[in-house]
Amino acid sequence: MATTTAALDSKVAVRATKLLINNQWVDSVSGKTFPTVNPATGDEIVRVAEADSADVDKAVHAARAAFEKGPWRKMAAAERGNLLHKLADLIEKHADELARLESLDNGKPYHVAKAADLPLTIACYRYYAGWADKIQGKTIPIQGDYFCYTRHEPVGVVGQIIPWNFPLLMQAWKLGPALAAGNTVVLKPAEQTPLTALRVGELLLEAGFPAGVVNILPGYGPTAGAAIAWHHGIDKVAFTGSTEVGHLIMEAAAKSNLKRVTLELGGKSPNIVFADADLDAAIEGAHFALFFNQGQCCCAGSRLFVEAKAYDEFVEKSVARAKQRKVGDPFDAASEQGPQVDDVQFEKVMSYIEAGKKDGASLLAGGNRVGNKGFFIEPTVFADVKDGMKIAQEEIFGPVMSILKFKDIEEVVERSNRTDYGLAAAVWTRDIGKAYSVANSVRAGTVWVNCYDVFDAAAPFGGFKQSGIGRELGEYGLQQYTEVKTVTVKLPN
Ligand code: NAD
Ligand code: MG
Repeated sequence: MATTTAALDSKVAVRATKLLINNQWVDSVSGKTFPTVNPATGDEIVRVAEADSADVDKAVHAARAAFEKGPWRKMAAAERGNLLHKLADLIEKHADELARLESLDNGKPYHVAKAADLPLTIACYRYYAGWADKIQGKTIPIQGDYFCYTRHEPVGVVGQIIPWNFPLLMQAWKLGPALAAGNTVVLKPAEQTPLTALRVGELLLEAGFPAGVVNILPGYGPTAGAAIAWHHGIDKVAFTGSTEVGHLIMEAAAKSNLKRVTLELGGKSPNIVFADADLDAAIEGAHFALFFNQGQCCCAGSRLFVEAKAYDEFVEKSVARAKQRKVGDPFDAASEQGPQVDDVQFEKVMSYIEAGKKDGASLLAGGNRVGNKGFFIEPTVFADVKDGMKIAQEEIFGPVMSILKFKDIEEVVERSNRTDYGLAAAVWTRDIGKAYSVANSVRAGTVWVNCYDVFDAAAPFGGFKQSGIGRELGEYGLQQYTEVKTVTVKLPN
């Protein structure tokens, strides 16, 4: 494991730090602010206005007025698409600044944010811009002298609660389909990473979105987040984050107004490598599947099953690859891995490393903190991991690879499915029969064959079982932001 030492060079000015309500930048009702921290140093970057239930209330009123009385609903659908295109163009114009801000606030390497997060974010807005005027119902031949058709109408005021691992991209996954379909939004960024969401708020104003269509409220989960989940004036809540909080969101929806709920939650995704695979590609793919984004991916390939015949070679080469991985300053072009997002995640990941050691897994790489400031952790590899161990069951959300051994396809499919999660899975093999067999039998919302983490705005993503409800992206994602209305017209005979 190598560390890079170049001085931090973020070269980015922080601009927006207030709440965006009804196209105005305002302080919170309470006047409170909270710090957002640079995870590479542990130092405060800036203080940001802290929303709670009073601010959510104001934002919901603005969003409701925009939905019912503003120009938004009367606007031609194509015009909504044009606004989304303008937003995408502005994000592209400021891509370097946004990548720097994302890196500063989240800790991910700047060059990764620039090469991955920004293009995916821009593509997502453009994809949904294209949908805005293509949202169509059906005409339905029913019995009798009637003309029956459906309209796909916006759900209304939508609450959106997003996580810190891909702040810009998760904002795009949420805003893109909601706005294309004509909803209005109250969005809460994660408290760890509010800065790029607010900067996009400035760009939304510049693009010309009408007042109240998008409201952005930084704040904490149990206060601002819970206020969104419980609010009677919100018609739907979309949440991405932990399964634990997903349960709370659903409970709040059930006990308030039965608002629609879509959830994108955690995972413990099986990544299955057969001995007949292109082993070097599988080793690199498995490294990426686990360590990408400091291991902070809901779909991380965190249960790496390797066929017994290839196990020793696979482990040896995976350990060597992990030891090469460069950890360091997110603004150093050589860094592949930055810090974990905050002290809480850092401590949590370190506790899982301890659990792995205590449970008897073989620690073959890493296991330690890097440096003495910020939240950096060595790329860590455990082999001889058994299904019952804590590190094989719970979501670690950090740079900790667990390699398990399997004998045959029946066994590995059964073990892969023995989890409450079902977000993603992957299989590496040259045998097309095995590939299809695994793809069809594994209970997960996404299956990658001989690849991993391939995302496209057009391809739906979401979980089986406790990994979530509903899908994001693609046409399926759009459907989660419309209500179907059936209109039946008596025809004159
Ligand atoms: P979290 O679920 O607490 O936070 C995600 C979002 O939900 C944030 O915006 C947060 O403010 C909000 N939130 C928290 N409590 C809430 C509540 N009671 N009501 C409404 N909103 C609430 O996640 P975390 O604490 O940041 O991380 C904990 C674990 O969650 C991680 O270790 C990881 O396992 C998982 N996680 C998953 C994803 C994902 O992409 N699916 C993202 C982040 C974290
Ligand atoms: Mg931060």
